[in-house]
Amino acid sequence: MVSRRPSPVRVRLGDVLEHVVVSGGGIAGTALALALRTAGIAVTVVEARPADHGEGAVVRLNPNAMDALRAVHAHQPVIARSFPLVRTERINPDGSRMGYSLGADPSSQRGLPRVMHWPVLASVLREQALERGAVFRHGSRVVDAEVGAKTALSLADGSRVGGDVLVGADGANSMVRGKIDPDGPEPERLGTRTVYGYASEPGCEPPPPEVMRSYVGAKAFFAATRDSHSGGCFWFTSLRAPVPRGEDQPQDPDALRAEMGELFAGDATIAPTVIGNSERVLSFDDHALPSVPRWHTDRAIIIGDALHVAPPASEQGAAMALEDGVQLARCLRDHPTPAAALAAFERMRRDRVEAVVAAGRMGTSRAHHRPLARRLRTLSTKTKRHFTWQRTPPMGGGWAYDHHIDWPESTA
Ligand SMILES: Cc1cc2nc3c(=O)[nH]c(=O)nc-3n(C[C@H](O)[C@H](O)[C@H](O)COP(=O)(O)OP(=O)(O)OC[C@H]3O[C@@H](n4cnc5c(N)ncnc54)[C@H](O)[C@@H]3O)c2cc1C
Repeated sequence: MVSRRPSPVRVRLGDVLEHVVVSGGGIAGTALALALRTAGIAVTVVEARPADHGEGAVVRLNPNAMDALRAVHAHQPVIARSFPLVRTERINPDGSRMGYSLGADPSSQRGLPRVMHWPVLASVLREQALERGAVFRHGSRVVDAEVGAKTALSLADGSRVGGDVLVGADGANSMVRGKIDPDGPEPERLGTRTVYGYASEPGCEPPPPEVMRSYVGAKAFFAATRDSHSGGCFWFTSLRAPVPRGEDQPQDPDALRAEMGELFAGDATIAPTVIGNSERVLSFDDHALPSVPRWHTDRAIIIGDALHVAPPASEQGAAMALEDGVQLARCLRDHPTPAAALAAFERMRRDRVEAVVAAGRMGTSRAHHRPLARRLRTLSTKTKRHFTWQRTPPMGGGWAYDHHIDWPESTA
C-alpha cells in the first residue's frame, strides 16, 4: 500500500521554535529527530558513539512500537528488515511443548510484534532521519548542558550546540536528567541481568522464524528464534545478578560465551551448540526507573530511558522510546511555547510510561521467584496451559499494545 507522508504544515503562534538540540542518538533521540523533521522543525542530535558502532543484539518491536513508526511513515523500512513474531512456545526439558502464546491479538488489527537486529533498527531510523534533514554529530560526547532560559549542549571537543529546546535522550545514566533535577532518582538495579546472543551459523536447526522458543533448562531458560533475513539465531536468557557489572566494564564475548556454555552445558536442547557458535554475546544488568518527579524545565526535557527505564521483561524499552519521540514532536509542533509543549507531553505520557515500567518490574520479579515458589508456579502454569491455553492461547500485549498515535490530530 502506498501511503502519504503526514503533512508538516502547522502554524504556531507565540515563541518561535526553530531548532531542537538532542543529547543522545539512540532509539529515542533518533525517533524524535525523524518526527521533528516530519513536523518541519530543525534538529541536531549529538551522539557519543560513532555511526557504525554495530553494538547491540536483538530487539522486539511490539505493535505499539510499529504504530509509532507508522504515525511518521517510518515503518516500511523497519518491516523490510525485521520479521513478525507469531507465537512464543515453552519447551519442557524432555522436548515436549508446555504451551504457547500468540504474539498479539489477531483481532486487534494492530499487527504482530516484529523482531530485528538492534543495530539495524538504529541505522534504519537514522537513515530516514537523515533523509528528512536531521543533523547528526556522531563521535561527540556531551559534557555539560544548560537547561534554563538558554539551552545548549557543551561537547568534549570544546564546541557548543544551542537550540530553542534541549532534549536529553541520553539513556539510563542520563547527564541531562541530573541537570533538570539534581535531587531526582537514579535507576535501581533489579538484581537480574539479561544476556543476548547471536550466531550467524548456529550449527543446528534453530526454531523457525516467527516462533520464539523458550527451552526450560536445569538452571535457566534459553529463548531462541531464527532471523529470517540472515538465517542466524537470536537468543537471550535472564539470570540473577547479585554483583553489579561496572558501568564502563567492556563486554567480553569470550568470557560470556564460556560462562553461558557452562550454565547450559547439561541441557539436551539447542542451547549449548548455539552458544558455542555465537559471535555476539552481550550482558546487561536490568534496571528500573519507575517515576521521575521532574520531567522538564521550561525549555529542556528528558525522554526514553533517561526518563523511564523499563526492565527487559516489559519488552517495551524501544517502543516507549519511539512513542516518546513521536509524541514530543507532536507537542512541539502544536503548542505556542516550549513550556506549554513540554507540560503537554508530560500530561500525555506520565501515566502510561509509569504503568509500563511497573508491569515490567512485576514480570521480572515473577520470572525470578525463589525456587519453591517457582516450582509451584510452573506446576500451576502447566496445569492451566494443559486445560485451557491449548484451546485458547493467551495473547501478548493487551493495553500496552493498543496505544495509537494520530499524527495529524492536534495535541493543543
Ligand atoms: C549500543 C546499544 C545497544 C543496545 N542493544 C539493545 C538490544 O540489543 N536489545 C534491546 O532490547 N535493547 C538494546 N538497547 C537498549 C535500548 O535501545 C533502550 O533500552 C531503549 O530503546 C531506549 O532507548 P534510548 O534511546 O532512550 O536509550 P539508549 O538506547 O540507551 O540511547 C542513549 C544514547 O545516548 C548516547 N549518550 C549517552 N550519554 C551521552 C553523552 N554524554 N553524549 C552523547 N551521547 C550520549 C548513548 O551513546 C546512546 O546511544 C541498546 C542500547 C544501546 C545504546
